[in-house]
Formats: sequence, structure tokens, C-alpha cells
Amino acid sequence: MTDRYFEFTHSPIGKSVSNLLGLPQPPKLARATEAWAPAPLQGQGVLLAASPNATAVAALLKALTAMGAAIRVAPQHVGLPVIKTAAQDAKITLSSEPVRDAGEPGSRAIVFDATGARRPEDLRALYDLFHPQVAALPAQGRVLVIGRVAHGETDVGARTCAAALQGFVKSLAKEVGKKGSTVNHIELENGAEARLEAALRFLLTPHAAFVTGQTLRVGKGQGSAVSLPGSLQGKVAVVTGAARGIGAAIAEVLVREGAQVVGIDHPSQEGALGETLSRLGGYGMALDVTAANAGERIATEVAEKFGGIDVIVHNAGVTRDKMMRNMPPHFWDLVLDINLGSILRINERLLKGGLNGGARVVCISSIGGIAGNAGQTNYGATKAGIIGYVSALAPAMANAGGAINAVAPGYIETQMTAAMPVGPREVGRRLSSLSQGGLPQDIAEAVVFFASPAAAGINGSTLRVCGQNFVGA
Ligand code: NAP
Repeated sequence: MTDRYFEFTHSPIGKSVSNLLGLPQPPKLARATEAWAPAPLQGQGVLLAASPNATAVAALLKALTAMGAAIRVAPQHVGLPVIKTAAQDAKITLSSEPVRDAGEPGSRAIVFDATGARRPEDLRALYDLFHPQVAALPAQGRVLVIGRVAHGETDVGARTCAAALQGFVKSLAKEVGKKGSTVNHIELENGAEARLEAALRFLLTPHAAFVTGQTLRVGKGQGSAVSLPGSLQGKVAVVTGAARGIGAAIAEVLVREGAQVVGIDHPSQEGALGETLSRLGGYGMALDVTAANAGERIATEVAEKFGGIDVIVHNAGVTRDKMMRNMPPHFWDLVLDINLGSILRINERLLKGGLNGGARVVCISSIGGIAGNAGQTNYGATKAGIIGYVSALAPAMANAGGAINAVAPGYIETQMTAAMPVGPREVGRRLSSLSQGGLPQDIAEAVVFFASPAAAGINGSTLRVCGQNFVGA
């Protein structure tokens, strides 16, 4: 559905009127138009900074160099010695962030290694870097702060700082979102440095245009590190609810990355499914995911045609909104069964046979499952249930060499949200750091990143793709 306010503010007259009245102007987001590139930051400046005693600098230098970035440093900054030493060891050339006139754009991205922060005083390094640099972040700029997973840490200071980074990132994201820039946070497990590059390739590029204010936990994962570009070539990927909306976009991005797609949708959508899948060169299966034999049919039909499943995306979902006191039992049962029950049943069958080694499962949750919505007790329960489910199943998936994660969309422009009343629809669009709704492609990019073997360090996580929607818990 068209966002008329967005279009108005991007018309010549709308621009002048919104300037005059001081109305918000949602930025045009630069989204990916091509597959994951080998050197997505070729020739682009990335300002790398660190807190004292930072421990991920060598991995960051390696990853950014592989991505083609021109690495710059801030000459007076406290973390410079640790970066210089690591760059010398790796024979990587650094240049100084040029001194600029006010208003002149600086580096395309700022990457800050805060893994050394153990006392509140150590966080001063963030202020010293960002205070002079943030105004120079260009439109569609990227900020990434790296911290350590401090979960089992006995060091109270390190845990305090790890939590502080989340608040810093969420707040800075709200400051720079009006320019279409994003600020995200990686929590890196000790020993997971080789997994950093894939996360950088996602979060620092237009593939993550609608992801901001989020924390992504990167662990050691299973198997050796694989590069993101080309990692889905020839993989067999099943997507439910693929006829339209987010599911169709997921199928499209999987095909863009070289996967063979099997799209599933309800038999009532057979025509639309056929159209979508034939456009993409995929294979369509008309199937109600709640059917008792759904898992069996998926396992046997995909094995027969393509030899097994590398990726399954549980995207099919519905809403049947009513305030609790007015909700008929069939609204409850239908939503619970399609959005949650069917996922558990299908996976239980596939885990007995049907998934190839190292398989990836991606489920679609919702910010409705994080914040809750009046009139959506059924939907909210299912989407929160998915977050618990991926976290619970993660160890078993890891044992099988695979991973399971979820993506929680915010307000996304699809048929589902077009059916919302105009008030909540405008609130859903405007109340985010990027002051607009996302597109199905935004969810698809995150899902397909999780589907890649390169994202092996991420397991049991739920990533919000919502432009940092302000609807809160
Ligand atoms: P959509 O446009 O309604 O598409 C969902 C697809 O799933 C439809 O083709 C639908 O077919 C199919 N489906 C429903 N029940 C099915 C069943 N029993 N078996 C097989 N297929 C079935 O929805 P969307 O907006 O793309 O949403 C996709 C997912 O994202 C859902 O899980 C949704 O909850 C989640 N999500 C969306 C948003 C958003 O802003 N759009 C936000 C948060 C989360 P029918 O037409 O037959 O129902």
C-alpha cells in the first residue's frame, strides 16, 4: 500500500511545505539491488575506533579489508595504539580521518570496538569519538558498536558496560535515523572473531537498511567460517506463505542469492503462488501448513524433487484481531495453529528426516510478540512463543550443525497491514527512528542472511527489523 505522506514529503511542493511547518521528512532508504557483493565497501571510508584494551580490532581490520573498505582512524583517540599495533601486524594501511569543514560528510561508516570496556570510565572513549564525528555521518551512514557477551562474566564492571552499550546504541539510533542512518550493536562471544565478517557484511550494507537500534549476538557456531557471497548457491530453501507479501520477497531474495526455492501457500492461494513461483523459477506446493500431514508432505516431496532441505522459512501467518472479551474461540484456535502449532509440528517431522546437514530454520515473529497489542492476545502469544521456541531449539539445532533464528518485523507494507485502520497504520509507520514502514524486502534480507551458512555464529536469536519502532513493551 502506498505511503502517501512519504510520497508527499518527497515531492517538490511537499518538501517545501514540510520544511516550512517543521514536519518530519522520512528519508528515502537505499536498499540492496544486487546479491551479496564480494567487496561491498570498495573504496568507501570506514572510521575504526576502539576503547582501551579492545580485543576484536584484528578481526575487524581483517573483515573490513576483505570488504574493500578504506580504513581510517581518529588521530587523537584513546584506542589508536591498539588499532595501530593490530594494523602493523596484519600489514594493513590506515589513514587519518580527514579534517572537514562543517557540513562536509565524513566516513560512510563508524565501527567502534568497545570490547575492552570494563569500567564506566572506559565508556568515555565512546563520547570522545562520537561527539566530534556523529554530525559528519553521511545520510544512509552506518554505525556499529562491538561489545563482548558478558553473560557468564564474574566481572560486574564488564557486564555493566555490556548493558550500557545497548542503551547507547538505541539512543544514538534515534538521533541519526532521520538521515536514514542506522546504529547497531554486536555482542561477540569470546573466540567467535571469525564469525564477525558475515555480521558486518549484513549490518554495514544496504541489506540492513531497516535494521537499527538492535543487538545481534554472534557466537562461535558450528563448522569453519564461510564467506557470505555465494554461500546459498544451489541450496534448497522452503518458504511458507510464499504467494505474496513478505513470503514472496523472501523467495525472491533467496533466488537472487542462488537458492532453489520451494514456495508453499494455502490451496486458496494456488493461482497467486503459481504466478510468484513461475516468475522466480521456483517450485510451488499448495498446502495448508496446519494439515496433519504437512510435515510429511514437505519432507517427502522436497526430498523426491530436490534431495532434501537446507533452509526452511516459517513465514505463513495470519491475524484475527478482537479484544479478549469479544474474541470467539475459533479466532484463538486458528491463529495459534497457523502461527505457532504448525511450525512445531512441521519441524518435529523434519528433524526426524528431511533436513540436510547444517540446515537453517528461520521463523517470522513480530514486534507484536515483543510489545503486545490490544486486540492481539492470540497473535501476540504466537509471535512471543516463536521467540521462546527458537531459543529453546537452538542447542539441538547446533548439535546437528545447524541453527534456528527468528526475525521480528515491525510495520511492513503488505496486504496484512493495508487491512489495518488508518490511525494505527499511520502510528505504525511514523513512530520509528526511520519514520516510515519497512518493505517486504527488508524482512527478506534479514531472513536470507540468517539462512546462510555464513551466519553460523547466530543461533537462537530474534532480530527486530522494524526501523526501531517505538511501540514498546
Ligand atoms: P500476508 O500478505 O497475509 O501473507 C501471508 C501468506 O501466508 C498468505 O499468502 C496466506 O494465505 C498464507 N497463509 C496463511 N495461512 C496459511 C496456511 N494455513 N497455510 C499456508 N499458507 C497460509 O502476510 P505478510 O504481511 O506477508 O506476513 C508474513 C509474516 O510476517 C506473517 O507471519 C506475519 O505474522 C508476519 N508479520 C508481518 C508484519 C507486517 O507488517 N506485514 C509485521 C509483523 C509480522 P491466505 O491468504 O490464505 O491467508
